[in-house]
Amino acid sequence: MALIGIDLGTTNSLVCTCRNGEIILIPNQLGKYQTPSVVSLTDRGLIVGDAARNNLILSPEKTAASFKTFMGTSKAYTLGDQSFLPEELSALVIKQLVSDAEKFLEEPVTEAIISVPAYFNDSQRCATKLAAQMAGVNVERLINEPSAAALYHQLTYEKKDGCIMVIDFGGGTLDVSVVECFENIVEIIGIAGDNHLGGNDVDNEIAAFFCSQNGISVESLNPEEKAALYRQAEKAKISLSSADTAKMALAACGREYALVLTNEKIGEICGNLFARIKKVINQAVKNCSRRPLIKDVVLVGGSAQLKALQDYLKGLFGREANVSPDPGGAVALGIGVYAGIKLRDGDMQDIVMTDVCPFSLGVGARHNKTDDTVYMETIIPRSSMLPCAREKMFYTLYDGQKALNFKIYQGEQYYAENNLELGELTVSVTPDRAGNQWAKVTFMYDINGILYVSVKSCTGEVKEKEIVNEKLRLSEEELEKSREKLTHMIESQLSSDANELIERLVALYPFASPAQKEYMGFIISNLGSAYFSGSPIMCRKACEQAEEAAERLESTISCEVDFENILSNDDDDYDSEYADDEEE
Ligand code: ADP
Ligand code: MG
Repeated sequence: MALIGIDLGTTNSLVCTCRNGEIILIPNQLGKYQTPSVVSLTDRGLIVGDAARNNLILSPEKTAASFKTFMGTSKAYTLGDQSFLPEELSALVIKQLVSDAEKFLEEPVTEAIISVPAYFNDSQRCATKLAAQMAGVNVERLINEPSAAALYHQLTYEKKDGCIMVIDFGGGTLDVSVVECFENIVEIIGIAGDNHLGGNDVDNEIAAFFCSQNGISVESLNPEEKAALYRQAEKAKISLSSADTAKMALAACGREYALVLTNEKIGEICGNLFARIKKVINQAVKNCSRRPLIKDVVLVGGSAQLKALQDYLKGLFGREANVSPDPGGAVALGIGVYAGIKLRDGDMQDIVMTDVCPFSLGVGARHNKTDDTVYMETIIPRSSMLPCAREKMFYTLYDGQKALNFKIYQGEQYYAENNLELGELTVSVTPDRAGNQWAKVTFMYDINGILYVSVKSCTGEVKEKEIVNEKLRLSEEELEKSREKLTHMIESQLSSDANELIERLVALYPFASPAQKEYMGFIISNLGSAYFSGSPIMCRKACEQAEEAAERLESTISCEVDFENILSNDDDDYDSEYADDEEE
């Protein structure tokens, strides 16, 4: 049975495995390595991935994205008449990845290593584990995303000893970590992050700039126009990683608007965002368990390709940052390396990876009986190396006190109540003079970043707890119910993709010119026949063709483009590609 690695991203998710010393990224049915972490409810059931992503525009009320940001909270997402928790939506993404992996590997998959942001707290980690359980896979290990990226970087490209800073800038999150690599040991010594800062914010800045330059307000746009604006902003941003200028065009409120963007302009309008990135970088350095001497800055995550950010970091560090050769895949590939270590595969068995605790952990305590204030009494300090066990003694404050109560917290704040409360334990003691009775509190933080607490009183009573948000503790029955609910996921992403593309083209149809309409009719009917042929190869080809056409149409509709010209070329291409396929 295979062990797979899953990069469960806010924007995109990837799956990989390790075989005979080789790390393999596993493609989905569309042949792509990245599956958008988007879930949509359609008439035929739940869908995940590219097709669902298209529905963000076509039917936003039935589609959910970026739910990872709310993992471990009770935020409910309503898709049509159904309600889902973030871990249920994540479970659907995991199910899709596992199913793609099973098809690719031609064997069942029951074990996975899943990555999480380093600063994910206990609830968020437990929710991720729960999502996997709902999807029917056992979590071999939770691994921190930057640790995975560092592992991959260290093993594949650098192999030099020293300290590196890994900056993971994704769609909605930023994760900065300082990693020390010495011989075959990869040690995370400091981390910091912002889970509300990513490439989406860059899109928002570009969209706002587009509007201000064209004298329109975002609020005046209808939902379709707004969606088109953000799509255009992201497209322009992406094309600027390989071109000097990018043109944005938008038809809205009965008029046409345009803007030419450059990387310098993005640098200017993202000044505030970049300043926030700098703050996180500073924090990561401050959080280090020892003074780092950084020799290299490694950029990963889809947004690492942002030229304006690379320039900004060059200014900040006085040297070029090292952009990972596969920024989007670096975390997944790193998990693959870790899978290799686990499987004792090839050379990888000799590598050791250590991680640190992202937050301080402790209990609330009063200093004396005249002061009611409850202070944070840290037991495991932030940046302690994992796994880690520490203990502390606490004494009674009053004569005749019958019990000692401990509230467990996570965080760096001085006053206990300003930290995140994780749970509570109480042990009884024998009534006695103040200070005579005591209890020993032991914290154990495991390599998955999950905390276990035990309290032993001097009377011998022991109370223990695995800190799991009660909301996330499901009985086997409840788990089964959840799984049942999630079985209405459509198995074939391919056929649903064909349908979604048809819907996307149909939605564009009323705005098209006569020549465009003719072309769309051709693409739609081809999609239909490919779909009903049942041939995966034909279906994939037709989907690729239609996706490209839809994208082009979305950007050209209402803009002046010599469409007839594109049309004639494309027809020829299509005929020949299609003919090839039929021969296969
Ligand atoms: P996450 O880890 O949050 O799932 P990813 O690492 O996949 O996200 O990054 C997704 C983000 O990367 C999106 O905001 C996307 O617009 C951005 N992105 C992808 N390609 C490029 C590019 N060539 N230039 C700039 N940004 C890009
Ligand atoms: Mg990521």
